[in-house]
Amino acid sequence: METDTLKHERQRHEMVRQQIEARGIGDINVLAALRKVPRHLFVSEALRDQAYGDFPLPIGEQQTISQPFIVAEMTQALELTPNDRVLEIGTGSGYQAAILAQIAYRVYTIERIRALFVQARKLLDKLNYHNIVMRCADGTKGWEDECPFNAIIVTAGAPAIPGLLIEQLADGGRLVVPVGNQHSQDLIKITKDQSGIHQTNLGGCRFVKLVGKHGWREP
Ligand code: SAH
Repeated sequence: METDTLKHERQRHEMVRQQIEARGIGDINVLAALRKVPRHLFVSEALRDQAYGDFPLPIGEQQTISQPFIVAEMTQALELTPNDRVLEIGTGSGYQAAILAQIAYRVYTIERIRALFVQARKLLDKLNYHNIVMRCADGTKGWEDECPFNAIIVTAGAPAIPGLLIEQLADGGRLVVPVGNQHSQDLIKITKDQSGIHQTNLGGCRFVKLVGKHGWREP
């Protein structure tokens, strides 16, 4: 009989083949990370059977864990190397942070809702992610003490491109952020180098709101 561990591993491999590789994601580090991180542990027990499906899932506090393909697309867009220090705004379940931590040197992640922060910290500790540093705060202000970052990922929808985060990018750094109204956004990628700031639009997406000083107002 197949054990649960084997079943979940098989589901992850299927997820990567059918949802990620089939849609053109080719970064081998991203694919390896998605095959490795046990996504089913980042959702409640009741949703475990759906964890490898092609959709986002609720994680409590009216927040969601992103669809696997979006996680892959955003991670690939960050062009991570093993020496990179990465900032994530919106820890949520901690799944995206774990994916980043498989590839980069160190991940700094900020969550504003305490209950989610506590839960994610417990899980990431249990899974031995020693290269993830966490903070419960308003991430729209970035993480001044630890900047500059080689890559910054915002996993909630912003009303405008957060200028403060561009300031916290290193030379050669990449920022990926969903920007738009509260119903739909465009995934924007910013790169920063000596010639200035460059912006590309990776296409439409739908995220929960980025709430904070440089985001949407408190609900
Ligand atoms: N990356 C997450 C998905 C998170 S959903 C995962 O892998 O599960 C977006 C998260 O951003 C929510 O948990 C929400 O509370 C958080 N968030 C929204 N505004 C924020 C802010 N200003 N600072 C930090 N976290 C924020």
